[in-house]
Amino acid sequence: MITFLSGGTGTPKLLQGARQVLYDSEISVVVNTAEDIWLSGNHISPDLDTVMYLFAGILNTETWWGIRGDTFSTHRFLEMLGGEEFIAVGDKDRAVHIARANLLMDGMTLTEATDTLCRRLSIEAPILPMTDTEVMTYVETPEGPMHFQDYWVKHRGEVEIEAVVRRYDTPPAATDAVMNALEASTAVVIGPSNPVTSISPILACEGVKEALMEQFVVAVSPFIGDVPVSGPAAALMRASGMEPSSAGTYSLYKDFVDLFINDVRDPVEIDGALRIDTLMSHPSKSEALAWEILSVIRSAVQ
Ligand code: GDP
Repeated sequence: MITFLSGGTGTPKLLQGARQVLYDSEISVVVNTAEDIWLSGNHISPDLDTVMYLFAGILNTETWWGIRGDTFSTHRFLEMLGGEEFIAVGDKDRAVHIARANLLMDGMTLTEATDTLCRRLSIEAPILPMTDTEVMTYVETPEGPMHFQDYWVKHRGEVEIEAVVRRYDTPPAATDAVMNALEASTAVVIGPSNPVTSISPILACEGVKEALMEQFVVAVSPFIGDVPVSGPAAALMRASGMEPSSAGTYSLYKDFVDLFINDVRDPVEIDGALRIDTLMSHPSKSEALAWEILSVIRSAVQ
């Protein structure tokens, strides 16, 4: 089994390719939950949703969020009634958020609720929330702290950020399911997800870094030069005191990564890194990258 650590765009693109070269039952995914938010009484877990929809074959891969062909009737009608909802939630997508909220309010953990939803969506791969307790990424701005979704979706990232912080009541710990998956894996792949908002929250869960030190770990950079392929990673890296580049990404992973991959076009040199085309602009390119990663793992581990 190969375990992937995932956010909601870069690693799901790689998972799309991995699903062409591995059976779903050979893949497990540990997913960031620090961007979760309750909205209109329902529970949105953006990265879990994207990974679940990918494995269920219903993801909108134009946007990498939401369900393909979804409608937005409830969202529009709600707006007409004056209900503010800063995230455009599709009707089917909302049904998933309602179902998850109901399961959580019935007393299930997020791991149990996700497992239930995955079974209902006929998903075979274990999709595992990183932790079962609430943790939220906030950005510090000149106007005060802001939930990451507020910053990125409502304000489109057009706000100066001074720091990135995580808020929680209980320090997050990796769930037993996550620890078991990490321990049972042939290798762990940290996909090209945002190092600050997607991967750091997973690494910060108690137990994860120690488990990674015992494993063969491959990480893929989400940067080419000083710009990420997409999204706000550069501003978030700067606000976290890290260089927005593959070098900054590598510095975050260097204690446990066995093989670091950066793009063939990347001007940044990392000692010992493997250069591959990491731009997954088409499903065939995701598949090619997944093939390369798996062949490296096979020759290193078996
Ligand atoms: P989020 O949860 O939506 O922020 O998504 P992730 O954290 O999973 O992924 C965001 C990161 O994916 C960004 O920093 C992008 O630079 C990176 N990314 C997106 N597409 C690609 C790609 O095709 N190749 C590489 N190398 N990185 C990518």
